[in-house]
Amino acid sequence: MTLKTGKLNADIIPGQKAAAPRERKKVRDLEVVVANVIPETPDTVTMILFTGNEFLDYRPGHFLTIDPHQFPSLDRFTRYLEDIKGRKESPRAYSLASAPDEKHLSITIKAEEYVSGTTLYPPLLSPLLVRRVLPGSRMVVSGFTGPYTLPEDIASRTRHLVHICAGSGVVPNYSMIKYALRNHPELRHTLVLSNRTWDDVIYKKEWDYLQQSHPDRLRVVHALTREEDATRFGAGVRQGRVSAELLRELLREPGDAEFFICGPGITPHDRKRARDLGQEPAMRFMETVLALLGDMGVDNARIHRETYG
Ligand SMILES: Cc1cc2nc3c(=O)[nH]c(=O)nc-3n(C[C@H](O)[C@H](O)[C@H](O)COP(=O)(O)OP(=O)(O)OC[C@H]3O[C@@H](n4cnc5c(N)ncnc54)[C@H](O)[C@@H]3O)c2cc1C
Repeated sequence: MTLKTGKLNADIIPGQKAAAPRERKKVRDLEVVVANVIPETPDTVTMILFTGNEFLDYRPGHFLTIDPHQFPSLDRFTRYLEDIKGRKESPRAYSLASAPDEKHLSITIKAEEYVSGTTLYPPLLSPLLVRRVLPGSRMVVSGFTGPYTLPEDIASRTRHLVHICAGSGVVPNYSMIKYALRNHPELRHTLVLSNRTWDDVIYKKEWDYLQQSHPDRLRVVHALTREEDATRFGAGVRQGRVSAELLRELLREPGDAEFFICGPGITPHDRKRARDLGQEPAMRFMETVLALLGDMGVDNARIHRETYG
């Protein structure tokens, strides 16, 4: 695959908080080779990226960005979307699935769909990354940044990390959990992972392996919203959404835990659409989970969050 290189800037992703100056200095472009593409689910792949001998300085939870302008095969779509949206297409953010103590970088990408009557524009970059990028392809990524990371002093704050994620929102938490299991033996983790169906669950084998390797330190509970009988997939699989009952059952002492929540939240597009209709935007995963934790009396300062659009 040929590519165009250009200055990428992770600070121009819509909806992101401005990065702290210390973070901003670290962001730089890297030319990577796609070493492997691993199917995770029917619409999601993990890409292993070779970077040569670069020193990869990132924290678990950081993301990189990929600029769609570098792919000539997207040119006509990018220009058309820029014409109708009236603004330049931004680099897209992808959380690192790898952890800093692993040799290679990896990212996990879910191909967004175009749903007639619902989706305003066809998704630009993710379908290409998932369905068209092959091992051996080169591309430029820019990284690493983002405020949603495992704090360096986490072990002094808590002994229990509670991860509540939906869909591909589990990617940064996967990096945090792997890293913390290896490097913070004093910490235990509960992961509550929401998906529509069992087939949508990313890293199934890896969750099994990690739980078997650390039975006292990792508990994974799946909440499946669109299965007829979710419990047939195993003891850790529940039917329905993440609910107050489920959180109360899993978290006996929520006040002592530190929470890491990642998944879909209300986007600026949702807000605008609701405003145009004179309505309030409907709560999504993030708003629902925050409300549940608020009802349980969890201190907001103990909640780390990242919203995927
Ligand atoms: C911090 C962060 C980390 C992320 N990490 C991951 C990850 O690990 N894995 C992953 O798969 N994804 C991740 N994402 C999401 C990713 O960045 C992309 O948003 C996603 O891949 C979709 O990109 P796309 O180009 O395919 O779709 P887009 O072209 O961005 O379209 C996505 C949706 O937005 C709508 N839309 C786009 N522009 C407008 C507009 N102007 N007005 C109204 N609606 C509009 C489209 O209609 C479509 O429904 C992350 C996002 C963030 C912010």
